[in-house]
Amino acid sequence: MATDPNCIFCKIIEGKIPSKKVYEDDELFAFHDIAPWAPVHFMVVPKRHIASMAQLEAGDAALMGRLMTLAPKLALEQGCRPYPEGGFRVVVNTGTEGGQEVHHLHVHVMGGPRPWLKG
Ligand code: 5GP
Ligand code: ZN
Repeated sequence: MATDPNCIFCKIIEGKIPSKKVYEDDELFAFHDIAPWAPVHFMVVPKRHIASMAQLEAGDAALMGRLMTLAPKLALEQGCRPYPEGGFRVVVNTGTEGGQEVHHLHVHVMGGPRPWLKG
């Protein structure tokens, strides 16, 4: 598994930095955002270090498909109400102009009763 020793999310996945874990399997990891925007706010990440969505290749389609189908299940488990009254927002910041601060591909999942702190 490719990891970057300087990457904060790789350290979280390896357990070297503590996090509130939501889910883990052999290729995906999910944990609560340390600065939540919404009552529910967690991130789903590939365990393999991929810097951003811009680095995805054709061979990553199955991985990202699994990630995107996992997200709604975790959203419900974490307290988002069901669609259509409830739901959630998915955000993938990519690159500096895309607002990305941590350069390990992560999918934000946000939901819960409004108002939210942001968004
Ligand atoms: P970005 O702006 O790159 O899309 O989002 C990075 C997110 O990672 C931010 O929402 C920030 O709150 C979160 N974050 C940064 N450092 C940590 C950390 O050490 N632990 C956790 N759980 N979240 C973090
Ligand atoms: Zn990483």
